[in-house]
Amino acid sequence: MPQRCPLCLGWLWGEVGLCQLCLGGLPAVAQVQPGPAPLEQTWWLGDYEMLEPAVKALKYGSVRTLATPLGRRLGEAVQAQGWRPDLVVPVPLHPARLRDRGFNQAELLARQVAQVLARPLEKPLQRVRETPSQTRLSGQRRIANVQGAFQCSRLLTGAVLLVDDVTTTGATAHACARALLAAGARQVQLAVLCRARP
Ligand SMILES: [Zn+2]
Repeated sequence: MPQRCPLCLGWLWGEVGLCQLCLGGLPAVAQVQPGPAPLEQTWWLGDYEMLEPAVKALKYGSVRTLATPLGRRLGEAVQAQGWRPDLVVPVPLHPARLRDRGFNQAELLARQVAQVLARPLEKPLQRVRETPSQTRLSGQRRIANVQGAFQCSRLLTGAVLLVDDVTTTGATAHACARALLAAGARQVQLAVLCRARP
């Protein structure tokens, strides 16, 4: 039974995750903006409006195959800007949520990004505290919600590219970046598929 493309709902004929037309319509170059501190820069592939159906299908519809074309395109779009990190690190899920979902979408994306950039993927971050979903919280409460929720299990050097599917207020990436910098990373940049409005 062929599957449907989550963006245009057309049938997939041998394509993985997305149809050729929608894949071709994804931006080839990532958008980039400095910060928010302590992040050096944030890269994103496209607008939330454009990528929302794909992100939801990946995250909540368990369409894992989507991580391949989306992660590859994100990696290529960062590469097109000429920046190469020393290490690629996914934002971790709490073990309980990982058990429920069965996979970490950020890790699936990060694997593809690392492959495109020919850089090692590592998972030194751990969620040491279960945090309520950020979805219904305001900006300040999101920061408080995830503060100290992450720990880095080993010493780091060099520039780290942190990967997640979506960033909204940046609170989760902010907490991860603090843990990575505290472990010795020279700088941390964030790459996401899209930025959502809070
Ligand atoms: Zn399509």
